[in-house]
Amino acid sequence: MKVKCTRCLPEEGIEIPEFTQEEKRKLLELKSISSIQAVKALRQGFPFSLKDSKYITLHINKHGECHRCKYSKLMGEYVACPKCKALNFNWEINV
Ligand SMILES: [Zn+2]
Ligand SMILES: [Zn+2]
Repeated sequence: MKVKCTRCLPEEGIEIPEFTQEEKRKLLELKSISSIQAVKALRQGFPFSLKDSKYITLHINKHGECHRCKYSKLMGEYVACPKCKALNFNWEINV
């Protein structure tokens, strides 16, 4: 699927696969430790360029909370924040 953020380059967005629950969980966990770790995991586990890996990592957010402005009522996955318009992956993880 294609994801697009009106606040970031590239403006046309990037193509991403359906991440599995396991991948989402892992990437969220890594980003909470450090973004560099998440970028590394994306580079190693998927055929992503460094640029795309950074793009993906940037838009991974803690569920419900915008990574950019901290708006806290985001609903659904791959949504634009109603406040600042930034894209949030907003992954729903079933524990
Ligand atoms: Zn963005
Ligand atoms: Zn926001």
